[in-house]
Amino acid sequence: MKKIILFGPPGAGKGTFSAQIRDVLPEIIHISTGDILRENLKGETPLGLKAKKYMDKGELVPDDVVIDMIKDRLKKKDVKKHGFVLDGFPRTYTQAEALNNITKIDYVVLLKVDEDIIIKRILGRYSCPDCGEIYNKYFMKPKIEGVCDECGASIKFEQRSDDNEETLRNRLNVYKENANPILEFYRKKGKVKEVNYENKLTEQEVKKVLEI
Ligand code: AMP
Repeated sequence: MKKIILFGPPGAGKGTFSAQIRDVLPEIIHISTGDILRENLKGETPLGLKAKKYMDKGELVPDDVVIDMIKDRLKKKDVKKHGFVLDGFPRTYTQAEALNNITKIDYVVLLKVDEDIIIKRILGRYSCPDCGEIYNKYFMKPKIEGVCDECGASIKFEQRSDDNEETLRNRLNVYKENANPILEFYRKKGKVKEVNYENKLTEQEVKKVLEI
């Protein structure tokens, strides 16, 4: 059973790499704090309402809110049984320390990507409203324009509300401010594995990173 943190700037490919991990470890549970928060936003839950103003600006939701959310998720049976990939958490040193008090992780996979590519990845990305398959207007259009390759639903380029240029700049700055102390925390424990993720890895390469 593996307990993995996926780390990297917005647009580094954490979602894509998580899918690659699930291809080789099908039972592992993918936990994305961004996804959980967006679901709460959509459902207009108290948590979603609290998070909205931060997410709209590309700022971090306060630590106590996100830490409680992760604590609850990591208590669940499926996670205890199958392990997890954390995507988007920890984002601050305080979150890293809190996680360390909840459970010990195996390693942090740091995805490295040039900033020009990140910008295109984020500003061009969109997804199928029905099955969630991700596309990119620069790099990865569906085979038939307007039709999802996976489920056949009709799709159009529609950005996530926080994938605009101003918010993106803010999110990149927030990442840069917080990343080093978090990485230092895990480097001291010898847990960081760096992966160049400008191109998708092969299954063999993914297995090597995951030591399976
Ligand atoms: P993401 O989908 O990971 O890019 O997250 C989208 C937004 O959700 C971020 O810009 C933050 O506003 C919020 N968010 C996600 N994860 C965290 C976290 N660990 N700590 C604080 N805010 C978060």
